[in-house]
Amino acid sequence: MLGRLKALALLTFALIVTVLRRWIGRRRDGIAAFRANYDADGLPPVSDEERKVMPGFQRCIACGLCDRGEAERIAASGGAYRGIMPLVLAASRSMPDFRAAAYSFSFVPDSVLAEREAICPTQVPMRAIAAFVRAKADAVGGPLPLPPRISSLRPPSAESPTEIPPK
Ligand code: SF4
Repeated sequence: MLGRLKALALLTFALIVTVLRRWIGRRRDGIAAFRANYDADGLPPVSDEERKVMPGFQRCIACGLCDRGEAERIAASGGAYRGIMPLVLAASRSMPDFRAAAYSFSFVPDSVLAEREAICPTQVPMRAIAAFVRAKADAVGGPLPLPPRISSLRPPSAESPTEIPPK
């Protein structure tokens, strides 16, 4: 009996606090509450339109074709960029990693991604994945800053995109 009374008192107290918070407008609902809770974890909300196209992001079969000709960009990145396949297959699968993935994507121009989409056997939408990753990274602070050991390097795509034809 005492336990029930305590539970009733606790529920009553919680109800009063909730009503008071709503009344004085301090409670955040919906997107605002979601962002307040999850932005720090790198998890911005996803729109209905984004949710509809996301299944197409999973089509990579790890054939490696899109990485042909990427050796120079990989070397120039000092380790920040490891090729297109690792980006579409792994780095773009976990949203908390998107700030690092967005930085890595900055080493490969969209024009190159378009070329590789044309040879991809499963039509992975590489430019759409890159845009999604960049948008979500921007929503929570943008691409991660350069690690100090490669701070003298700049992504080639940030200046004049240099296209390296597949070998
Ligand atoms: S070409 Fe397409 S399927 Fe092959 S590794 Fe690249 S993204 Fe994946």
